[in-house]
Amino acid sequence: MTFSVHGQAVSRGIAIGRAVLVASSRVDVAHYFVTAEQVEREIERVRAARNVVVDEITRIREGLIETGTKEAHHELVALLEVHLMLLMDEQLTAGVKHWIVERHYNGEWALTTQLEVIGRQFDEMEDPYLRERKADLEQVVERILRQMRGEGSPVAAPPPAARRSSQQELLLDDTLDVPLVLVAHDLSPADMLQFKQSVFAGFITDVGGKTSHTAIVARSMDIPAVVGARSASQLIQQDDWVIIDGDAGVVVVDPSPIVLAEYGYKQRQGEVERERLSRLRHTPAVTLDGQKIELLANIEQPSDTATALAAGAVGVGLFRSEFLFMGRNGHLPDEDEQYLAYKAAVEGMHGLPVTIRTVDVGADKPLDHIRRADDHLNPALGLRAIRWSLSEPAMFLAQLRAILRAAAHGQVHILIPMLAHAHEIRLTLALVQKAREQLDAQGVVYGPVQLGAMIEVPAAALTVPMFLKHFDFLSVGTNDLIQYTLAIDRVDEAVAHLYDPLHPAVLQLLSRTIAEGRAQGKPVSVCGEMAGDVTMTRLLLGMGLRSFSMHPSQVLAVKQQILRSDTRKLEAWAQRLLASDEPSELLNE
Ligand code: PEP
Ligand code: MG
Repeated sequence: MTFSVHGQAVSRGIAIGRAVLVASSRVDVAHYFVTAEQVEREIERVRAARNVVVDEITRIREGLIETGTKEAHHELVALLEVHLMLLMDEQLTAGVKHWIVERHYNGEWALTTQLEVIGRQFDEMEDPYLRERKADLEQVVERILRQMRGEGSPVAAPPPAARRSSQQELLLDDTLDVPLVLVAHDLSPADMLQFKQSVFAGFITDVGGKTSHTAIVARSMDIPAVVGARSASQLIQQDDWVIIDGDAGVVVVDPSPIVLAEYGYKQRQGEVERERLSRLRHTPAVTLDGQKIELLANIEQPSDTATALAAGAVGVGLFRSEFLFMGRNGHLPDEDEQYLAYKAAVEGMHGLPVTIRTVDVGADKPLDHIRRADDHLNPALGLRAIRWSLSEPAMFLAQLRAILRAAAHGQVHILIPMLAHAHEIRLTLALVQKAREQLDAQGVVYGPVQLGAMIEVPAAALTVPMFLKHFDFLSVGTNDLIQYTLAIDRVDEAVAHLYDPLHPAVLQLLSRTIAEGRAQGKPVSVCGEMAGDVTMTRLLLGMGLRSFSMHPSQVLAVKQQILRSDTRKLEAWAQRLLASDEPSELLNE
């Protein structure tokens, strides 16, 4: 039966495919396709791992029987027997085989998929004792997975056969080439990054807001996504057909043929539009009245520079360096590893400037599953970004040295996130100087850098002259500026409707930051999601913004808006909007 689920529209486009439900804790399991020839071997791989686990548990059980008579022993023996029974269960074995043979999933993926299927059946059981056996099933599957990992199977490394492009085509018959969409309760930004090269044509999560970092990564992958879809992961079943409408924030489950055809048409139209926009790639971003506008790219990894260049970006305005630090189970990248990554980004841009933002972990970007930010009561107001860096000076100095060294290979700017206090500015600048001195002392080569501050806390937006005294440029992080101005958690779908870039308070802070920077002749950019939102382009131009940094996928659409704009006309209109209590009513004038 067709039904739809509503959420936040976070990444444009239409995806049509079958649902793959993944438990949040299992996203780091490898997901790739095996070839027809590898199917037998893959089944055998799972069987062999399962047999090892069966042997292990049998041995433990026998040991217990031999040594003990205590009651606790009996209970343990009984539990192990349950585990053995679950391991030998036909539904598990047959299900895993089904996913490998019919879908060509790799063994780990087949196992976790079948775990979801059986887990749901357990959830629906009346008998509480049986319901609780789900945890046992999870434990035995976990054991098999660990055993398989021991064989050195790759983690989330898709072989070439699993290219995304081939998955995005709409193939409605039940062949192997059916596109897949990922459905999960939650995905961390690091999890999303793992899926960057993956087989999925779209994403749906129950939680999250428009500018949550999970949504941001989905957008950077240019894959349709809906977040904050509440109970989607409970309503959607493994293998259901789903349509993700990333423009409207709607998920249609089990669509009728007419609905499918309609969305198929929309999907093709989207492709035609992209094709049309791609012709603007080499056109300079100049307004009708001759104002040159700088269009920069936001990236998460050095390899994203290729996409940035392909989109016609003239530099990187925001390299979110924290993605090098996340999901590493506590092993942070050292100076050399970071240096190589930054150098790769600099070289990837072939002489164009690269703005590297120092690490911004915390809040919805936990370092890893172990150190989740939600350990704290109010993570968004906690030890995040520069606050964390200043609390770990050795780590921060290593990052600064790595960036300074990369600056020997091209134009590099350093951008500092979440500054608010004069003493934070002082300490940061002192550490940049110290990093230089350390490199001098070691005789290591480094290059010149421009230093910039992010304006993303209202306190900073209200004290812009203080920042202009110390920094070469400013970059406005509207995602956080909106979050902190309106006291709206950017990841909380319950208040997503109050997250409003057009609130007069936000517009006033933004406009005064741009004006004060321009008055002193210092560049001001916007690197939050607003910069890539085509409905905001005219307003930002009218406020005097001349530098925009966004996902590569947005560059051409924003350029199209710029080519059609006359800033002389937009200025007076922007002023009227700024003076209004309800600016959104004037936006489409
Ligand atoms: C912002 O806050 O607008 C920004 C660009 O930084 P991030 O989204 O990574 O917090
Ligand atoms: Mg920010």
